[in-house]
Amino acid sequence: HAAPLPSLEALVDDVRAGRRAMLARAITLVESRKAAHRTLAEALLQALLPQTGRAVRVGITGVPGVGKSTTIDALGTHLLAQGHRVAVLAVDPSSTRTGGSILGDKTRMARLSMDERAFVRPSPSAGTLGGVAARTRETMLLCEAAGYDVVLVETVGVGQSETAVADMTDTFLVLMLPGAGDELQGIKKGIIELADIVAVNKADGENLPRARAAAGEYRAALHVLGGREAHWAPPVLTYSGLTGAGIEEVWSQVLLHRERSRLAGAFEAKRSAQQVKWMWTLFDDRLRGRMRSDPMLRAEVPAIERAVAEGRLAPTLGASRVAALLGV
Ligand code: GDP
Repeated sequence: HAAPLPSLEALVDDVRAGRRAMLARAITLVESRKAAHRTLAEALLQALLPQTGRAVRVGITGVPGVGKSTTIDALGTHLLAQGHRVAVLAVDPSSTRTGGSILGDKTRMARLSMDERAFVRPSPSAGTLGGVAARTRETMLLCEAAGYDVVLVETVGVGQSETAVADMTDTFLVLMLPGAGDELQGIKKGIIELADIVAVNKADGENLPRARAAAGEYRAALHVLGGREAHWAPPVLTYSGLTGAGIEEVWSQVLLHRERSRLAGAFEAKRSAQQVKWMWTLFDDRLRGRMRSDPMLRAEVPAIERAVAEGRLAPTLGASRVAALLGV
């Protein structure tokens, strides 16, 4: 019952025209794991390459309940009012286990998802974290080609998915809760080390003093840790996603980080490095896919793995044996 595949030319035109329904169809193609779909998706991404890369790409993370969807709804609405077109994507690591998706659910961003100028897409739900991240990255490129000039990529606080999102965005925004104790958790988990901007949400009403206190602690911690980049000391802000107070300043800092990175020559360097890293990630995924599907490898590899586990075979030699089976 499968509909015939559209032609490459039709797909390219549809995406460039920027219509949401057409974009959604192209994304479905890119998310598909059928071989014929993958081939067409790769050709589409290659054809659209010149139209990609122009968006402000922002990663946003924080524990469940920190206010990611509230913040994205408020920030996105603010950006639409400024004339931007906003796409919201998600990398939800739990979706790879449950097949469902918590993040990026349209109902979580009531105003934004109702707006014609915004595009909200839930996390792809199939495959490994690497697979989900790859599909999200490709979706981001389609959105850029469709004219979205701001792409917000949301993820939830599990270390690996945060690294994956930091690797596909220009600026990484870490949202924190007011209050003591849990903030040091974040520092321990290394999430803070990925942050270009730390923003303490819920700085409103009676939360305000605690939000300011938390911000002070993060400032001190960041001072000790030092920033990721020589040209940028990550700022710590307080804001309220609920009232919108301070949200403009969060965006100003995103733009300032971008500007400083450009001036330091770091912006293009980071984008290039991300592209190359992504290529090798895709290559690794393929290699592993091949290992899983090749009957000879499937027959031989478990015994090699067992020998290494039981200390009978040195890991170096084990790696050589697997490589030999692959012909490398
Ligand atoms: P997410 O799980 O990170 O997406 O968090 P949500 O955006 O769903 O927010 C979780 C809860 O915190 C909801 O009940 C929100 O209404 C509330 N919340 C979010 N932002 C703020 C804020 O700025 N101030 C206050 N007081 N509550 C907020």
